[in-house]
Amino acid sequence: MGEHERHVYDVVVIGAGGAGLRAAIEARQRGMRTAVICKSLFGKAHTVMAEGGIAAAMANVNSHDDWQVHFRDTMRGGKFLNSWRMAQLHAQEAPQRVWELEAWGALFDRTPDGRISQRNFGGHEYPRLAHVGDRTGLELIRTLQQRIVALQQEDFRQHGDYEARLRVFAECTITELLKDGPRVAGAFGYWRESGRFVVFEAPAVILATGGIGKSYKVTSNSWEYTGDGHALALLAGGSLVNMEFVQFHPTGMVWPPSVKGILVTESVRGDGGVLRNSEGKRFMFDYVPDVFRAKYAETEEEADRWYADPDSNRRPPELLPRDEVARAINSEVKEGRGSPHGGVLLDVSSRLPADVIRRKLPSMYHQFKELADVDITAEPMEVGPTCHYVMGGVEVDPDTEGAVGVPGLFAAGEVAGGMHGSNRLGGNSLSDLLVFGRRAGLAAAAWVESLAGDSPAVAADDVTAAERTALAPFRDGTADNPYAVHQELQQTMNDLVGIIRRAGEMEEALDRLERLRKRAAEVAVEGHRQFNPGWHLALDLRNMLLVSECVARAALQREESRGGHTREDFPKASAQWRRWNLVCRLDATGQVSVDRKPLASMPPELLGLFERKELASYLAEDELAGLPEQPT
Ligand code: FAD
Repeated sequence: MGEHERHVYDVVVIGAGGAGLRAAIEARQRGMRTAVICKSLFGKAHTVMAEGGIAAAMANVNSHDDWQVHFRDTMRGGKFLNSWRMAQLHAQEAPQRVWELEAWGALFDRTPDGRISQRNFGGHEYPRLAHVGDRTGLELIRTLQQRIVALQQEDFRQHGDYEARLRVFAECTITELLKDGPRVAGAFGYWRESGRFVVFEAPAVILATGGIGKSYKVTSNSWEYTGDGHALALLAGGSLVNMEFVQFHPTGMVWPPSVKGILVTESVRGDGGVLRNSEGKRFMFDYVPDVFRAKYAETEEEADRWYADPDSNRRPPELLPRDEVARAINSEVKEGRGSPHGGVLLDVSSRLPADVIRRKLPSMYHQFKELADVDITAEPMEVGPTCHYVMGGVEVDPDTEGAVGVPGLFAAGEVAGGMHGSNRLGGNSLSDLLVFGRRAGLAAAAWVESLAGDSPAVAADDVTAAERTALAPFRDGTADNPYAVHQELQQTMNDLVGIIRRAGEMEEALDRLERLRKRAAEVAVEGHRQFNPGWHLALDLRNMLLVSECVARAALQREESRGGHTREDFPKASAQWRRWNLVCRLDATGQVSVDRKPLASMPPELLGLFERKELASYLAEDELAGLPEQPT
């Protein structure tokens, strides 16, 4: 162990997106010596790519909004499978987190009377997304980074060292968590540039590693999103919840092939864009499920009036939650009413003046012009579903984000499960990062303080084992290369565990994953440790395969359709299945096991926010029987 670069901190945060940065700021503000580690460049994370905005019930644009309405929308969007406590904390605390960002220097778009502007998004009853054009994530990250710099300047004044209590380790990938008995003790990783190993010792580790999209062929996710945090938690003895729920965003680019999957923000629909099939029909009116019918317009005229007068009209069906829109697009294409390249048409050009489109959707305008040679002010975009977000993640305590079963380990942001249930509403991720990132930082600091010096120790043998695992792909021979295995994994997940699922196909996927896991354990890479992407991918494969297996096993077990999990053989939601979470763990032999765990019951005061008629669409008979006639 002695020959490795070694750092000792109170709190180590793995991930420098919104969740990681907010957690690190909180831990540092509580006096903890804190490290932030990220696989790519500092500032390059999915959070930066977030376009639409941050959902927070500030009631700036519609005074009827409040945390209770936001809570209700979130539970509806997640089809009542959310951790109600996380959904409650999120709705209550999101406005404070947005105002805090503003106090730290974020420049949001304004309403005419100078308040933070809020825009409409699918599933949100009122305009709720605080935004900066369609570049909100960039402003969020810029502001958090600025806050980090401010804290480092404070440290310089006090200690003569900018990095005395908060240091960023960029382009450094963590491959293992280290433990001392049941407690987390640190992390092991490598510098991407030099390939040299590095050991972090810390009694508290916060996972903030984001999503898993790179297991799928068509995805809005970039190269870093290989499910590392999910896999690290599993391997450390933690559990993953809700893994069967993967969000396919309805609108990704479909043409040209080189950009297939790149996101087309929901703001296009929020600002007036409509979906049409090859016959020119606004088909979403045919896909409004019964449970949402009362809230959505039945005619194009009413839908169009809603943009100017939302209080007297119902919303357009293009703004249904993402799972509904993605399934509808899938059906239209399957029925032969798709666009030339296998998507549908998203039209904003006939709905808004060109200068308004360029002002409100500048990134989309440039994205289509540069990547597809399409002028969205003059012609429609071709769009189709793309793997975007994973609702499933590390099972955590809702208040502290402490990982169940691993003392000292915390998880926040997309890597954590529970908050979004079976389907996330747009805009609820950026708010999730801020609310639960802060809470994770707070709880990690409290955990370190509670140890009162009884810190765990990193064992030399564990470091040696981590090193051996990391070097294994430099084996001799003519074994597979990691790119071939990755390509087959992506194709398998896309074709067999994608947007519409069938038992036989998922069983086949599991067989293939088993074979791929064996091949991945034997892949060989060429060259040296200095910047070697083949080696990096070989190490990421373990994580992608583990996480994909969790998705496939949980999806096979859940015999119903709900949110981001659609079974052709079980097309309806089942009130009995709503009572269960599926929890994935690794057993003693390293195999993935999936167990049912009952969902925590929602307290009466929160149930009382819903009409009994609506609850009847979600709850089982015996649950309903236990409720007062009409909750108040
Ligand atoms: P990320 O921001 O994904 O950051 C993860 C970090 O972990 C990165 O720094 C990465 O380098 C690091 N990392 C990963 N693995 C390792 C490892 N092994 N070792 C070290 N570091 C590691 N949500 C909204 O609410 N509103 C939107 O408008 C919106 N638009 C989106 C647009 C796009 C194109 C995409 C892809 C997503 C969008 N989302 C949106 C979703 C949202 O951006 C993400 O869910 C969210 O940013 C995730 O934040 P995070 O902090 O959890 O992780």
